[in-house]
Amino acid sequence: MTSEVSALEAVAHAVRRSQRIAVCSHVDPDGDAVGSVLALAHALERAGHAVDRVLASGERAPVTYAFLEGAALFVRASALDRRPDLIFALDAPNPGRLGEAAALLENATLVVIDHHPDNARYGTVNLVDAEAPSTSALIWEVLKHLAVEPDHAMLDCIFCGLMTDTGRFSYANATPRAFLLAAELAQAGARTSWVYSNVYERRSHAALKLQARTMDRLTFVKGGAVAYSWITDDDLHETGALPEETEDLIDSVRVVDGPDVVALFKCSPGRVKGSLRAKGGADVGAVARALGGGGHRAAAGFTLTGTLSDALAAVLPLLPARS
Ligand code: 5GP
Ligand code: MN
Repeated sequence: MTSEVSALEAVAHAVRRSQRIAVCSHVDPDGDAVGSVLALAHALERAGHAVDRVLASGERAPVTYAFLEGAALFVRASALDRRPDLIFALDAPNPGRLGEAAALLENATLVVIDHHPDNARYGTVNLVDAEAPSTSALIWEVLKHLAVEPDHAMLDCIFCGLMTDTGRFSYANATPRAFLLAAELAQAGARTSWVYSNVYERRSHAALKLQARTMDRLTFVKGGAVAYSWITDDDLHETGALPEETEDLIDSVRVVDGPDVVALFKCSPGRVKGSLRAKGGADVGAVARALGGGGHRAAAGFTLTGTLSDALAAVLPLLPARS
């Protein structure tokens, strides 16, 4: 706790000394990445600072999160006309995860705010708490410490990060702390059901067709201990689904009864991005790290070169089996 308080003070100190701030997160941003960046950027602007919301990959915010206030203001790192003197890197455990935004790091103060257990503490200031249910939960602490009066935009964004990273309050990180924060945000005026329906009840027909393909390919291996599925770039083209609409496909896979671990492989020519989820006590974060990726105990990912069969050959031996 003491170190967290001193990190919060160091964050406030860095903010006070800065002229121009950039806030960024990881490549292929999810709800916690987008929600955390937008909440913090909005709060810093409210406190009178000049702030850029910077993408680590892609050209705009994912369509799923376009409803959040400020989502249209994201820019690519290469489009910044002035270099920031202070950079916030959110939900990104190492500089590699910052993608294009890593180019901004030179000669700037870097504040890292994250809840990944494998965070490399690569900032000038590091506010890292692996017990936090989402990075947005830590942004809420920062807002309180900066004494920024939260408005709807900030509350909705923080709730969005919390809701999505806890799998709608269903994963192991949906701890009492997560529920208490949800209550606090709701009490303060977060539009919880509005955020929920925007994220989970506005799927495109194309994304549902992709989901159907994913379910159709569900494959059980290792005596039933592992279930996996896959999608390819051709599936995206044929259904018309966007890459960002694949973010929670793995959640459709994990509902199946039986396996200890589920996996989803997103295959592009020469490259496979894997997502792993543990349904029991398995540590898929360790598996992902062994493959050059990372993540949490129950939710982790990695990228490998090669084909789907290469990825299966690399991953399956590391996963639990049943006789
Ligand atoms: P997802 O499977 O949804 O892409 O990611 C699940 C978790 O693993 C997230 O916390 C995400 O940040 C992390 N993760 C996914 N891919 C990578 C990767 O290549 N490297 C690292 N360090 N973490 C990853
Ligand atoms: Mn997160």
